[in-house]
Amino acid sequence: MPHRNPPDPGGPLRRVTSTSLVIIFALVMTACVLGVMVWKALDAKKAALASGSSDIQNLAHSLSEHAAHTLQAVDIAMAGMVDLLKYRDPEPDRFNRYLAETAKTLPQLRGIGVSDASGNWTYSSLAEMPRHTISDRNYFAYHRDTPDNALRISELLQSRVDDQSSMIVVSKRITKLDGSFGGVVAAAIDKDYFNGFYRTFQLGPDGGISLIRRDGTLLIRWPLADKSTNLSKTDLFAKHLKLSSVGYYKIISPFDGVVKHLGYEETPNYPMVVTVAMSEDWLLAEWWKTLRTDVIVAGVLLCMILMLAALLALQFRFRSKTERALREREAHYRLLANNIADIIILIDSRSMLRYVSQSVEPVLGLRARDLVGRSCFDLVHAEDRESVMQATTRLGDVGSVSTVVFRHYRGDGTLAWVESKFKLATETSDATGKEFLCVIRDVTERKRMEDELTQLNHRLTQLAATDGLTGLTNRRTLDSFLRREYEACEEISVLLFDIDNFKGYNDTYGHQAGDRCLQAVAKAIGNATANTSGLSARYGGEEFAVVLPNTSEDEALKVAESIRLTIRALGIPNTASSRGYVTISAGVAARTRSTLDEAALVGEADTALYEAKRLGRNRSMVYSSLDLQYVESASIQHDGEVAPRERTHWQA
Ligand code: GH3
Ligand code: MG
Ligand code: MG
Repeated sequence: MPHRNPPDPGGPLRRVTSTSLVIIFALVMTACVLGVMVWKALDAKKAALASGSSDIQNLAHSLSEHAAHTLQAVDIAMAGMVDLLKYRDPEPDRFNRYLAETAKTLPQLRGIGVSDASGNWTYSSLAEMPRHTISDRNYFAYHRDTPDNALRISELLQSRVDDQSSMIVVSKRITKLDGSFGGVVAAAIDKDYFNGFYRTFQLGPDGGISLIRRDGTLLIRWPLADKSTNLSKTDLFAKHLKLSSVGYYKIISPFDGVVKHLGYEETPNYPMVVTVAMSEDWLLAEWWKTLRTDVIVAGVLLCMILMLAALLALQFRFRSKTERALREREAHYRLLANNIADIIILIDSRSMLRYVSQSVEPVLGLRARDLVGRSCFDLVHAEDRESVMQATTRLGDVGSVSTVVFRHYRGDGTLAWVESKFKLATETSDATGKEFLCVIRDVTERKRMEDELTQLNHRLTQLAATDGLTGLTNRRTLDSFLRREYEACEEISVLLFDIDNFKGYNDTYGHQAGDRCLQAVAKAIGNATANTSGLSARYGGEEFAVVLPNTSEDEALKVAESIRLTIRALGIPNTASSRGYVTISAGVAARTRSTLDEAALVGEADTALYEAKRLGRNRSMVYSSLDLQYVESASIQHDGEVAPRERTHWQA
């Protein structure tokens, strides 16, 4: 029956699934790690920028307040002076001292002074009255031409007094009682006053603070810039300040081209704006650091995931390889178990069938699945169960095999002879855990042949021991019987018979009739020892022998006579004989102390037979009654009559 390997249920498809699983796992894990990392990074960036924005706006607010306070203090002081100078010209020394004290009290002031209507200094906080004119300064022209009391803030100017340092001049117009221009009160605020304050803030390498006049003129830019720049065209003035006095936005710096976050706020009461800018890189410096760490951690995680995936893939591959090998092996075993002529079964410790190979169907006509779970003795012939049980109990260790031949029922109810080899399937000291493997073979045909052979052998043995014509034991068997019994018995007798005038019988009636006569005589002799311990045999030709263990000479003689008379009584005609019937002569010998061995005993019987012939046949002679010189005749000369003993001469 052609058998193909069963389709591999976990073949290529399963391998593909395993590989896909590993790839999906790796991708999902990678996506998770990257997702979490990106999400965390974006969130942290947002938080960092939000925190930066808040810092920048808070700082812009504080600095605008600071700028306002700086000017307000000067404004108040100058307002008093303008009021005074409106009415009169104070006494120079006193007013100069007053100015000096005011300048001293307000640290932002470098100096404060008063000019007349033509731009010449009339009062000053400085020790030495400046000699230069301010008539060419913008602020002077402004006040001269504009009759208002507001504080004017100049652009960044170079000092003409001393070191040419940069300063901002704040000034007020002196308006005389008649409304005419009476000069200017001007105070110089050192650029370094702001710079000194601004440098205390950590703004990063590209960060900066700007103080800008509301018309766009840059007054202070820390840490750079020494000259006024007009920023009125920038987004701040063109767009943002128009919308709100406070704000925050991202710019590309007009100073250095760096991307920055910028917060601005207009100073209250004074036409100035403070901006605070920090580069995005600086704001995100910490974030970048954290991001780098996160990237390293994520990288390590990804490496671990990839390694895990690779390990998993290897594991899957190894597993599928092992499973495939196992399946192949199982398929081979099943193929073997199902196709061999033997049945393979597995029996548990409770004699229950755990496994039965499919080959049980073709061999015994039973179905494996019907047998599993049943007792292994169910289908064993009742008389053989004991021997099967013993076969399993005989098993000592795993290596030993116990063979038993017994009768087993087939599916159709007939009996099959099976040979079963039992083996312990598991090495365990626990009796309840024992399992037996058993290989069963149908030996019905072999058994039949064996039985036939046994019968044949028996027949052959019988034939070898039996004379073909008469059915009596043959001489060879008689010899061994005699040898055995002679050894065993102190008392033993041998009888030899010879048919009288048989040659003549053959000649008269033919050889076939001779054979029939031989059979009749043999039957009579055989009957004499049937159901006794004696044995009758055809000794050769028309001679017969009888061995009688534990029989005395007298008893033996009686047996010989009984046989002789029985044959005479058959009444088989023999015209070749003077008596007209078939008769026989007998020689009897019993073992005596002087008997040498069994051959000698037969010789003695033969001597007695010879004597019986010599004395006229149809008689029995006893060896012990012979004499070397005379033969003592104790023969019975006529049917049923015992002749008186007479001494006869021994002719041999
Ligand atoms: P005696 O009384 O002295 O014994 O004379 P006899 O004629 O029997 O002489 P003998 O014993 O010498 O003759 C034996 C004969 O038996 C010779 C042979 O033809 C015959 N004979 C031997 N075996 C068989 C046999 O198997 N079948 C037949 N039909 N004849 C046999
Ligand atoms: Mg003879
Ligand atoms: Mg004869």
